[in-house]
Amino acid sequence: MPTPTALPDYFHDLNQRIGGALRTDAYSRTLYSTDASSYQVMPLGVLIPRTLDDVHAAVELSHKYRIPILARGAGTSLAGQTVNEAVIIDLSQQFDRILEVNAEEQWARVQPGLVLDVFNANLAKYGLQFGPDPASSNRATVGGISSNNSTGAHSILYGVTTDHVLEMDVLLSDGTSTHLAPLTPEQLAQYKQKPGLEGHLYRTVDEIAHRGAATILAGTPRHWRRCGGYNLDRFIDGANFNWPRDPRFNLSKLVSGSEGSLAVITELKLNLVPRPKKTGLAIVHFDDPRAALASVPILLEVEPSAIEMQDNMGLTLCREVPTYARLLSSFVVGTPACILIVEFYGESEAELEAKLARLKDH
Ligand SMILES: Cc1cc2nc3c(=O)[nH]c(=O)nc-3n(C[C@H](O)[C@H](O)[C@H](O)COP(=O)(O)OP(=O)(O)OC[C@H]3O[C@@H](n4cnc5c(N)ncnc54)[C@H](O)[C@@H]3O)c2cc1C
Repeated sequence: MPTPTALPDYFHDLNQRIGGALRTDAYSRTLYSTDASSYQVMPLGVLIPRTLDDVHAAVELSHKYRIPILARGAGTSLAGQTVNEAVIIDLSQQFDRILEVNAEEQWARVQPGLVLDVFNANLAKYGLQFGPDPASSNRATVGGISSNNSTGAHSILYGVTTDHVLEMDVLLSDGTSTHLAPLTPEQLAQYKQKPGLEGHLYRTVDEIAHRGAATILAGTPRHWRRCGGYNLDRFIDGANFNWPRDPRFNLSKLVSGSEGSLAVITELKLNLVPRPKKTGLAIVHFDDPRAALASVPILLEVEPSAIEMQDNMGLTLCREVPTYARLLSSFVVGTPACILIVEFYGESEAELEAKLARLKDH
């Protein structure tokens, strides 16, 4: 893509309006040209905003000068979501605060740059946590987690991140700042009357959902553990979800999973779940990986909280490191071709014992 001719004007005007750092040197751009994927694309520039006004200026001016922008969290995306010929807006450096926790109603308002492990560490005192747990949680941000509709080992309990996104503050592509939340049919009718881009979005998404319901349903995979494409399935009846779907019209469910392509998220209201009181593991040994995979549906019948597979390659590599080999020998018997690590949650030791006993009998 040729460099947009208006780029110098964009940078000039942006520099007049921001308190943060706008970096256009080759070194900074190279740093942001990769994420955890194998893609590398040189960005047009990098904005490290200090305030929301900085972000607002970047979005508004990008609309004026037609300059592509791309929000970025920790950059742990595996499919190139955070690299592009765009001005990268790094939201991980400043916007990392927990704004409010409502322990009684089990939700929190947070900024998008908050790292998931930090979030959960702060929620521990309330006996709460965020449900979806991508393995990158020690650096992944809630903005990135939401935009990728991430999930993790406990998806069988908690579904995907969009299930837990309740509301959002976002900047639309023209710089309009708006709040996205669940709407009753009466509220939706009012929102569709709004002027400008906002009203247009409510009218358009509602129309797509009505006119295209059959097509959306036909094109939606039957399994609930999915995160590809826009979440139009949230606006129709009939799609399969692991976590109960709130049927109200809620555009934050569409921005979640949109990989930064629809809006810049500046704040999120997220659902929280109780932390498990007790956890227990069963290590199920197999001589054949296919037998392990085939047994998963049976294991799911005893309602574990997670199942992870470790194959022979992983086990062999562990055995080559003395420290890991010692640890491994404490819970792996012999040399199985693979193991399934089956985890259970419980309120008490007795409940855990009962669940593990049920697994043995199954
Ligand atoms: C070792 C490793 C393990 C992983 N394990 C898992 C896993 O178990 N499950 C899983 O789902 N994924 C996993 N991932 C992928 C990735 O870590 C997750 O998708 C994570 O949620 C991304 O968070 P991030 O902060 O790094 O987001 P980024 O990679 O920075 O961004 C992700 C997307 O969000 C957009 N975005 C970020 N912030 C905003 C914002 N404020 N407004 C609008 N858009 C925004 C970006 O434009 C981009 O499209 C793993 C990656 C690694 C490297």
